[in-house]
Amino acid sequence: MTAPDWFEAGLPHIWLPYTQMRTAPPPLAAVATDGCRIRLADGRELIDGIASWWTACHGYNHPHIRQAAVEQLARMPHVMFGGLIHEPALRLAHRLAGLLPGDLERVFFTDSGSVAVEVAIKMAVQYWLNRGESRRTRLVAFRGGYHGDTLATMAVCDPEEGMHSLFSGVLPTHFIADLPRDDASRGALDALLASEGGNVAAILVEPLVQGAGGMVFHDPATLRHLRSLADRHGILLIFDEVFTGFGRTGTLFACQQAGVVPDIVTLSKALSGGTVPLAATVARRHVYEAFLSDDPMHALMHGPTFMANPLACACANASLDLFEREPRLEQVAAISAQMRMELESCRGLPGVRDVRVMGAIGVVELDRIEDMNRLKASLVAQGVWIRPFRTIVYLTPSFTIAPAELTHLTRAIRTVLSDPA
Ligand code: PLP
Repeated sequence: MTAPDWFEAGLPHIWLPYTQMRTAPPPLAAVATDGCRIRLADGRELIDGIASWWTACHGYNHPHIRQAAVEQLARMPHVMFGGLIHEPALRLAHRLAGLLPGDLERVFFTDSGSVAVEVAIKMAVQYWLNRGESRRTRLVAFRGGYHGDTLATMAVCDPEEGMHSLFSGVLPTHFIADLPRDDASRGALDALLASEGGNVAAILVEPLVQGAGGMVFHDPATLRHLRSLADRHGILLIFDEVFTGFGRTGTLFACQQAGVVPDIVTLSKALSGGTVPLAATVARRHVYEAFLSDDPMHALMHGPTFMANPLACACANASLDLFEREPRLEQVAAISAQMRMELESCRGLPGVRDVRVMGAIGVVELDRIEDMNRLKASLVAQGVWIRPFRTIVYLTPSFTIAPAELTHLTRAIRTVLSDPA
């Protein structure tokens, strides 16, 4: 069978994410990727405006990552990490510890952003259990936040989020507060911690950008405020940098813009340069030390089968090489400036509520999207791969995108929004 035959034969057996399988238009068939482009089975080529859910930071098929993958595939694609260790994971852990601020130095590898956050939650709760504080089982997270799709991570997302509110009956309850960005929300969070602080294990936040919750930006001062609150109440602080990590907001990690060191940080998405699933939960020394004991039950109780997969770690090491060798953060700054200039012209269009840019994230927020399927199809017709959600049309391109490709993306957005019919 040829590729098109496989698409036809396989489609009745595939269950797609976030998709009403009865009514959704058929998905597009991708056959190859290169640079910032996705080639479809029908021969069309789309410029990717969102880097495959914010992962492909160096573009697709970067030869340096490919070479590392091929070599690792030949040597040792996988070996279990229980009782065995290997160079790709150790090298990566060492490098991450060197790149992250402060004493964020103990790396626990997993294979998706959701699981990295689940591990962070378990780490925080068990940190307190190991110290004899069994009441501290709840987290403070924020309205508008998104941390994953598993049961544990849905429980720390915005409870209004449609796809998650469905499951509210089976989710553990945490405290979901407003981000403390003004006097009222600061006061409310203070009051919450004053009354419930003794039940809280950690504060969990996406630093600088709430991504899948609506591409909402907040500022470094908010992060500094959260650090001081956590310190005052003796609570752990977790930054979920699954989206923001590896340059997306303009610095390698978003926390660096606030000069704040969280107690635990989660990483995924661009960690392997967008090639192979990989995630990491990184803890500060004092968090790790709470797990050191003569009691075997004080060990961290987690261990996914494919954790620290050598192939994924080799790709991640190659990705970090590229951050060292190529001017990625300068490219992010250039993308930022170009998006700021080019997306600004969308501001006057009918139905546009806001235009905002941070690092390599460009957002056009609309009052509403009447027909999401039509909007998506119009964007494809413009030769671009952009996936609006809720009221948000956004760009998170690869950092290697050429200026002309980026202009093609911003022009496509403007064209489609100028002519919603
Ligand atoms: N945390 C954040 C901030 C995310 O943006 C995402 C995914 O978009 C996740 C966690 C979940 O990651 P994954 O989809 O790899 O499970």
